[in-house]
Amino acid sequence: MNKQDHVYAAAYDGMFDKIERDDLNELHFRYDKSSGLRAIIAIHNTRLGPALGGCRFISYNSDDDAIEDVIRLARGMSYKAAIAKVPQGGGKAVILKPMEPFDRQDLFQAFGSFIHDLGGRYITAVDSGSLISDMDEVAKNTPYVSGTTKDGHDPSPVTALGVYAGIRAAVQHRLQRDSVKGLRIAVQGVGNVGYALAALLHKDGARLIVSDADERRVQRCVSDFGATAVATADIYGVDCDLFAPCGLGGIINAKTIPQLRCSIVAGAANNQLSDDAQGEALHKKDILYAPDYVINAGGLIQVSLGHLKKSDSEINQRTLALGDTLTDLFERSRVDNNPPEQIANRVAESLLFD
Ligand code: NAD
Repeated sequence: MNKQDHVYAAAYDGMFDKIERDDLNELHFRYDKSSGLRAIIAIHNTRLGPALGGCRFISYNSDDDAIEDVIRLARGMSYKAAIAKVPQGGGKAVILKPMEPFDRQDLFQAFGSFIHDLGGRYITAVDSGSLISDMDEVAKNTPYVSGTTKDGHDPSPVTALGVYAGIRAAVQHRLQRDSVKGLRIAVQGVGNVGYALAALLHKDGARLIVSDADERRVQRCVSDFGATAVATADIYGVDCDLFAPCGLGGIINAKTIPQLRCSIVAGAANNQLSDDAQGEALHKKDILYAPDYVINAGGLIQVSLGHLKKSDSEINQRTLALGDTLTDLFERSRVDNNPPEQIANRVAESLLFD
C-alpha cells in the first residue's frame, strides 16, 4: 500500500458504520472532469415515494464533512416527508463548491445528468447556495427537479403559511385562544419566510417584535406592520406569548433557554434545538415547542405536490393541515408527558420503518 492508498483507506474506514447509523439506503458520488462537478446524493428511505430534497452548493472543510452533512440532511427529509404526509422519501444532495474557476451552467447541467442516472429515485430542489436559475440548468438534463423558473414553485410563502397554521394550533393548545389577535409575537429573522409570516400575523392583529441581522429588513417590518424593533441579542429575553425563530439554527440552547419569557416556541428555522437535551429543557420549563421539521414542512409540500402537478389550492390546504398534525402531537405530548419532538420522531419512525 502506498501513502495515497493509506489516506483513502483511512477516509473510507467506517463508511458503512455511518450508513448503518442513519439507516441510509444509498449514497452516490459523481466526479465529472469537464465541468469539475464533485457531488454526492444521499437517498435515505424511499418507502413512501421517491426521495426528495434540496441541493446544497457550499464549501466544506473536508469530503468527510460533506458526507456527514448529506446523510444527516437526507435522514431529516425522510422524517419531514413522512410527518407532512407527502408521497416522498428523504434525500439530499451536495455539490462541493469548486476551489478553481468554474462554469456554473456546466456544473449544474452535469449535476442534472447525475440525477437522471438515478432513474427518478432522487428529485432535487433549491437549498443553501443553489438558485432557481441553477435548477433551470438541472432541468436541461432531467425532469427530476422541482422549483425551476418554469414551474414557479417558490417554497417560502407556503412555508410561512404552514408556520402560521402551526402557530395558531400552538396558541389554541397552550393559550386556549382561537386567534393571535393582541398576542405579542417575537420573530427572529425577517427574511423570505419571516417577513411573509409577520405579514400573516399582522393581518390577524398580532403585536410584533422583530430582530434581524439586516437592519433594512427590520425597518421594513417597522414601517409595514408597526413592529417593535429589538437588537439581535435581545430577542430571546423579550416578554412575549410566542417566540418564532425564522433565521438561524441552533438558537435554542443552554444559553438562550434561561432568557426565554414566552410560553410557546414556534418558527420556521431548521434545526432550532442545538441538541436533543434542549427539547427536554423547554418541556421542563413548560414552554410548548412546535418541532421545526413539522411546522416548516410547507415548502416541502409545495415542491412535492407542485412536482406532481397538484393545484395551488390543494397545496395550501395540505399546508394548513400541518396545524392539525401539530395539534395531535401537542395532545400526545401532554398525555405522555414527553416533548413534542420526541413524539414526532416516533410517529415518523413508525411510518418509515415499521
Ligand atoms: P432568509 O435568508 O431569507 O432569511 C433569514 C433571515 O435571518 C435573514 O434576513 C438574516 O439576515 C436573518 N438573520 C441571520 N442571522 C440573524 C441573527 N443572528 N439574528 C436575527 N436574524 C438573523 O432565509 P429564509 O428562506 O427566510 O429561511 C429562514 C429559516 O427557515 C432558515 O433556517 C431556513 O433553513 C428555514 N426554512 C426555510 C424554508 C423556505 O421555504 N425558505 C423552508 C423550511 C425551512
